[in-house]
Amino acid sequence: MICSRCIYDDRIPYITFDGNGICNYCRQHEQLDLEYPTGEKGWAILEGMAKKIRESGKNKKYDVVVGVSGGCDSSYLLYLAKKLDLRPLAAHFDNTWNSRTAVENIQNVLNKLKIDLYTHVVDNREYNDLFKSFLKASVPEIDTPSDIGLATTHYLAARKYGIKYIFEGHSFRTEGITPHGWVYMDGKYIETVQKQFGTMPIKTLPNLWFLPWLKWVIFNRIKKIRPLYYIEYKKEEVKEFLNKEFGWQWYGGHHMENRTAYFANNFYLPKKFAIDLRYSEFSALVRSGQMSREEALQKIAAPKPFDPDILDEVKKRLGFSDAEFAAVMEKPKKTYRDYRTYKQTFERLRWFFWGLYKLNLVPKSFYMKYTRKYRDER
Ligand SMILES: [Zn+2]
Repeated sequence: MICSRCIYDDRIPYITFDGNGICNYCRQHEQLDLEYPTGEKGWAILEGMAKKIRESGKNKKYDVVVGVSGGCDSSYLLYLAKKLDLRPLAAHFDNTWNSRTAVENIQNVLNKLKIDLYTHVVDNREYNDLFKSFLKASVPEIDTPSDIGLATTHYLAARKYGIKYIFEGHSFRTEGITPHGWVYMDGKYIETVQKQFGTMPIKTLPNLWFLPWLKWVIFNRIKKIRPLYYIEYKKEEVKEFLNKEFGWQWYGGHHMENRTAYFANNFYLPKKFAIDLRYSEFSALVRSGQMSREEALQKIAAPKPFDPDILDEVKKRLGFSDAEFAAVMEKPKKTYRDYRTYKQTFERLRWFFWGLYKLNLVPKSFYMKYTRKYRDER
């Protein structure tokens, strides 16, 4: 069965359909749409936030941390921060697998907007070891050390300069709502997998530990905001704008600015786990009227493009022979539930996180996704 509005079907985890054949993810989108208005109303909310952020930045060098990857969303976010009359500090986590286009994009946008950059570079041997550990663990989350490294880098930059706000480039209208069960991440999970499969300890990856994170959230009151939720964010128009304004280049697909992300999304996840993130992206574009359902169905039918040179590079840098790599792909599939994570701690503390969410200290999405016990988790 397939949703009558988007292109999610019954292979999507935790999907349900209502009497009109519309899926729960579409209904969730409708709710978010109401909760986060765009247009004049959205802009007024953003300006109100910017005022608060400027006040919190008084007598400091910067007002807000903006995470950058060289991608479309984060590049546009830098422009938006300036337009809101803020003094942003860009923060970048370098996992040593950046594409050249991404690096050039970051430089071009920062130079033109005169924005300083805070970078955290991980030791490349350590990162490759970690990457290899996740492949050996046989789970979908092979790129989460980068996601976690990025999240922690934002906090480190904020703490260093006493900044109270972090801008994130997510937009549910273009990126979508990733179903639970596709990808899970937390700091404990990364530590467990590395201890079990790695050959060296985690030293230079900024891992997100539970207690420092709580300290940043509760005592330092560092808040995360997703400004793209409040604007008419049309991906194609934004790409054109960035190109004209900053000489920014498109690198050929969502999350493809980095080669580990590209390998995960275009090869490993679809081939081993039948997870194709285009379902979430295209469904979002259909729901927000930026792509027709027919076009989405047509596009999804074509296999994901993949550059075989990247596979060779992964094998070479990780020291996998062809036979070893084939064994990795054949190994029985596991999930995060086969390893130690913070998930049970989050579930036990559900009431506590509800309080933090009500105090506006953690995002609703965190509370909903991480503290809920799912039916297959016993
Ligand atoms: Zn749907």
